[in-house]
Amino acid sequence: MTTFSDLGLAPKVLRAVSDAGYETPTPIQIGAIPPALEGRDVLGIAQTGTGKTAGFVLPMITLLARGRARARMPRSLVLCPTRELAAQVAENFDTYSQHVKLTKALLIGGVSFKEQDTLIDKGVDVLIATPGRLLDHFERGKLLLTGVQIMVVDEADRMLDMGFIPDIERIFSLTPFTRQTLFFSATMAPEIERITNTFLSNPAKIEVARQATASETIEQAVVMFKASRRERAASEKRDCLRDIIRAEGEKCTNAIIFCNRKTDVDIVSKSLKKHGFDAEPIHGDLDQSVRTRTLDLFRDGKLKLLVASDVAARGLDVPAVSHVFNFDVPSHAEDYIHRIGRTGRAGRDGKAIMICEPRDEKNLAAVEKLIGKPIPRNGAVVPAVAETLEEPAPKPTRSRSRRKPAAQEPDVPAVAEVAEVAAAETEVAQPVETRAEKPVEQRPAKPDRKVEAPRRERRNGRQGEVVGMGDHMPGFIAMSFDERRTD
Ligand code: AMP
Repeated sequence: MTTFSDLGLAPKVLRAVSDAGYETPTPIQIGAIPPALEGRDVLGIAQTGTGKTAGFVLPMITLLARGRARARMPRSLVLCPTRELAAQVAENFDTYSQHVKLTKALLIGGVSFKEQDTLIDKGVDVLIATPGRLLDHFERGKLLLTGVQIMVVDEADRMLDMGFIPDIERIFSLTPFTRQTLFFSATMAPEIERITNTFLSNPAKIEVARQATASETIEQAVVMFKASRRERAASEKRDCLRDIIRAEGEKCTNAIIFCNRKTDVDIVSKSLKKHGFDAEPIHGDLDQSVRTRTLDLFRDGKLKLLVASDVAARGLDVPAVSHVFNFDVPSHAEDYIHRIGRTGRAGRDGKAIMICEPRDEKNLAAVEKLIGKPIPRNGAVVPAVAETLEEPAPKPTRSRSRRKPAAQEPDVPAVAEVAEVAAAETEVAQPVETRAEKPVEQRPAKPDRKVEAPRRERRNGRQGEVVGMGDHMPGFIAMSFDERRTD
């Protein structure tokens, strides 16, 4: 069995690895570290959770331990697609370089230029940056990239999704031709292949299995959701999410809830809070200090539900996440693997439940094709059709009548709707703890009138008709709507 000491790392780096408690290197580390130490270019096809960060950080520290940085000329450069990922890489450098004297700077949006300028002016061994911010510094004449000996591109496929490839090409062209390049991507899209062919020289190619292995510890399920009426789709979907979370009960110690759109992240988070859940949003439009604080709370176990966009949650390393809830089926099948990979980490069990609307079935099929197996259906929740309602639906308000039906909306509802949603849902707000006291199965068949569902929701007549059951159908799905509700 290969050990860390077989890989050629410096003794001080080995000590830090041992301090971190790692006993055996992961496959990407076994594959990437020796060629990186020889000065070769490396092409790592691996995704987050495989230990790839240490795969480039450990050899970099070993190589950079010799030599000194010059003012404004970083000796190495790590490019990451998001601020969170950059911050995570910086933490890795701190962990593994504790016995080595190494200077580093983090160039990300939301952190003051002045502070970073001072560090760079002094000279840094490692510069960790997002591409846009790095080019800002470069253009302000604060930085020279001609001293870069090692350049890392992390999560290149995400860089592609985010439109960073032209920036990456530009940065490559600003660094010396003789640099060593360590390049990591979860997938090899044609555009990524083109970049690697252009900028890497005879790389050692290491491909580790996609997270299919990790996902064996993740129990997956899909809940088919169909709204009773189009204009109620959004609020009923949030209702469905709450039911799913409640049905998981105490097994759900913490969770990440993924939404496809940033405004949905805000709306879902606000709605969950109104219903007594401990939830906070994270997405790219939030101030960096807020994002960092929210993430820290979640990592420290002080926040139970993190509602996130794909970009913000990309590559997050939170070791124990019990559940991932996909509020939407991701439009890029790859994202599904990244999302569910937030749970079931390090051999722990995890559960990933996704809500699928009829319009998402194509995307669901793409996800199943990618993972190579069907995801068990937990049940199809089909509320009764409008004709069976006892009363006519409420007249739409003026502001709503001007909007297109939710199902056809190509874009997100305005932020103002967040407040609207929140206000509309205040009437049913109730702390989740109260609900959790009573297991779903033991709820009375006829709810107390005082705690009955509000009229608007009762009119829905959501007599859940269940189709295509798997073995693990949560109890709430088999019940009629009134039985499930206690509010
Ligand atoms: P990454 O793929 O770089 O995001 O790493 C995923 C997680 O694996 C991080 O929490 C690392 O600290 C951890 N890790 C990295 N290398 C090892 C190793 N050799 N043994 C155990 N855990 C590791």
